[in-house]
Amino acid sequence: MVKNKKKIVILGSGFAAVECAKKLENEFGNDSEIELVMIGEDNFLLFTPMLPQVASGMIETRHIVFPIRTICKKTKFYEGRIKNVDPYGKLVTLWGTGDKRSISIHYDFLIVALGSETNFFGMADVEKNAYTMKTLNDAVMLRNRIIDMLEQAENETNPILRKSFLNFVVVGGGFAGIETAGELMDLLLDVRKYYPSIQKEDLKVIVLEAMGEILPGFNKKLAEFAKQKLKERGIDIQLKKVVTSFDGNEVTIKTLDETPKDSIDQSEINSIITKTLIWTAGTTPVNTIKRSMFKTEKGKIIINDFLEVEKFPGVFAIGDCALFVDPITKRPFPPTAQIAEAQAKMAAKNLISLIKNSKKEKFVYHSKGQLAIIGKRTGIATFLGVNISGFLAWLIWRNVYLSKIPTFDKKTRVFLDWMIDLFFDRDVSRLNFIKRETEKEYKELDEVDDVW
Ligand SMILES: Cc1cc2nc3c(=O)[nH]c(=O)nc-3n(C[C@H](O)[C@H](O)[C@H](O)COP(=O)(O)OP(=O)(O)OC[C@H]3O[C@@H](n4cnc5c(N)ncnc54)[C@H](O)[C@@H]3O)c2cc1C
Repeated sequence: MVKNKKKIVILGSGFAAVECAKKLENEFGNDSEIELVMIGEDNFLLFTPMLPQVASGMIETRHIVFPIRTICKKTKFYEGRIKNVDPYGKLVTLWGTGDKRSISIHYDFLIVALGSETNFFGMADVEKNAYTMKTLNDAVMLRNRIIDMLEQAENETNPILRKSFLNFVVVGGGFAGIETAGELMDLLLDVRKYYPSIQKEDLKVIVLEAMGEILPGFNKKLAEFAKQKLKERGIDIQLKKVVTSFDGNEVTIKTLDETPKDSIDQSEINSIITKTLIWTAGTTPVNTIKRSMFKTEKGKIIINDFLEVEKFPGVFAIGDCALFVDPITKRPFPPTAQIAEAQAKMAAKNLISLIKNSKKEKFVYHSKGQLAIIGKRTGIATFLGVNISGFLAWLIWRNVYLSKIPTFDKKTRVFLDWMIDLFFDRDVSRLNFIKRETEKEYKELDEVDDVW
């Protein structure tokens, strides 16, 4: 081993981590003085913009994941769950399990890109009973759930029970919620022909949004267009609705009223019977960040203009786990892959400058535009400063996201999936997987077994 070799450790294997690793590989990939390391719970990058299309069965599951070993070839990868980051001792500790040793990895420079997880705002019943749309597992589970509900409803004679099978409630009118609702409706309408007793009017997709509009951050006219199109396709969009509980059979909703906070609460409470609630209403940084010694606000790591973590030079935080405030609105930017990748590029650049003793640059975000698809061949886009809606926006979405897929073989597979979907029906086999993995029993060790 080369003496004084510097180790750059990247935490996470998502958009920010992978983009940063690629930039650092370009600079240090053949440098014997620098070692690049990545640690991630999953050994792949998940291409989330296409997750709803996996849930609807349009794209095959493995076509939207990219093994780290194939896209970051000059980075040493550790698959493992991070337990602790010690920025004083410059150590990252991984959890051990019954059959896996716990190890600690030393770093000289650190990139924290641990993303976020679903936020249930403390509602334990919702967390227990709802489906989510954040991981590949979520998309696969949801698809199987939808097919199962159709199977159950087809032969059910109790009208109330039948209704609860055919009501699908999506909570959250952001990117993930709206794209999921659109894809869900497409799937239901496509496969309905296999279920002769189920009529189009029996199928209900309801979106509940706490704010007064959907797709916040989008141009208002485009968001309104999306709302109208979704309504035309039979999706019921209910605004200013806040979910208060879900027991697996019924979702309780509070309608926000306009009365001032100090007057008597006039909020109306009602409910919808459903067996399937899909929760996309918020994200929060992962516990590893919340428990860490880094200074956080609302769970996110506070960073300076150079994306470095306060008090810890050489430690950068990027993507969904970092607090990044829009200088115009003074509010945090919404968590997007676009921002995560832009920050990754700048963090890599500043880290290179730090190592080479040159000047660091401030991060300034320039949006490249926004895109969303809202169901069959319809989308909305703000692209090159122009607002576009309908088929053209949908076409732009497909082109842009296809071009963003990191490998040629997966690009081809996704393209073929889309083509096949034009000519063939979707598969209605329900794969009987369990809903959610129960929390793993992690091995607590007094001491770590190894330090690398
Ligand atoms: C359904 C859906 C659709 C979306 N559509 C779009 C879109 O169209 N456009 C857009 O710009 N954005 C979109 N987003 C948002 C986008 O996915 C995120 O903003 C982006 O993934 C953030 O990148 P990141 O690297 O910060 O986090 P992530 O991509 O979430 O990566 C975090 C990584 O950290 C790992 N990790 C977390 N905790 C640990 C731990 N303790 N130990 C080890 N590893 C850990 C995770 O496994 C993951 O690899 C969408 C999100 C969803 C859910």
